[in-house]
Amino acid sequence: MSAEELKTMCEKLIKAASAVEVGKVDRLERAVDLIKLLKKTPVTMKLLMETDAAKTLKRLSKHSNTQIATGVSGLIKNWKATVTAEASKQEAQEEKKPKLEIEVKDEDKSKADEEVVKSPTTPAAKPNTGDPQRDKLAVSLCEALAVVLGEVGEDADGLAEPSLVGISIEAAMFRKFGGMTKEYKAKYRSISFNLKDSRNPDLRRKVLSGDISPYTLLTLSSEELGSDSKREANEAIRQHMMRECERGQTTQSSTDQFKCGKCGQRKTIYYQMQTRSADEPMTTFVTCVNCNNRWKFC
Ligand SMILES: [Zn+2]
Repeated sequence: MSAEELKTMCEKLIKAASAVEVGKVDRLERAVDLIKLLKKTPVTMKLLMETDAAKTLKRLSKHSNTQIATGVSGLIKNWKATVTAEASKQEAQEEKKPKLEIEVKDEDKSKADEEVVKSPTTPAAKPNTGDPQRDKLAVSLCEALAVVLGEVGEDADGLAEPSLVGISIEAAMFRKFGGMTKEYKAKYRSISFNLKDSRNPDLRRKVLSGDISPYTLLTLSSEELGSDSKREANEAIRQHMMRECERGQTTQSSTDQFKCGKCGQRKTIYYQMQTRSADEPMTTFVTCVNCNNRWKFC
């Protein structure tokens, strides 16, 4: 698709959408068809930058007709994902081969041209990182995200294309962790597990709706990635531990090894408790018998 063609399609869509706005309901079908067509049309970062298409269509994402509004916001999300994936891919390639022979460069360029020619016949995006192992992981993320389309049913209009989002998550990971490092693999396992978790449909839906961007996803802790039910279970354990600890005051020991910072006496009682993960040191809670001052340390 050329820049001219894309521009024309955007203009047609704006025209149809404006007609709907002034009450010409019969133009709605045309507008929706154009959105669908645009969604199916493969685009490149270069094309999007040349045409400024996302900016042109942005106001339609607030159109009074929800079909148009959600359709266009989904389309723009797809485009954003395309740009993210492409930018990451480019950066990764630049980092990987800092010094290229001119000959190799030319070869790379012709390959890139081939891709552009090939892409219009490919309906959904396929990962193409040049590393089969990375591609495999990206495909797995795409498949996990594609489940959402079945889960939300008719509300799928505002969602981005799963394959594009999956690819940009993998690309973002590769970039953030500097290759297929240990951190990359650990994060991949955590993200993949939670995206596929049958009790956690919210996470994959939020990722596909753009509420959680690929970059934000990478910054979430495993607890934040987890389902609500898992979070509640963790909270329950924490509460239980607190209660146990309060009830278990008899297990307190008295010692003179701590000095109260308030009154300076050494008459204290203390107890220890595991407040963090099991492999970290316990937290010690100290109470001064003289002035009732309390403090804790790890
Ligand atoms: Zn004291």
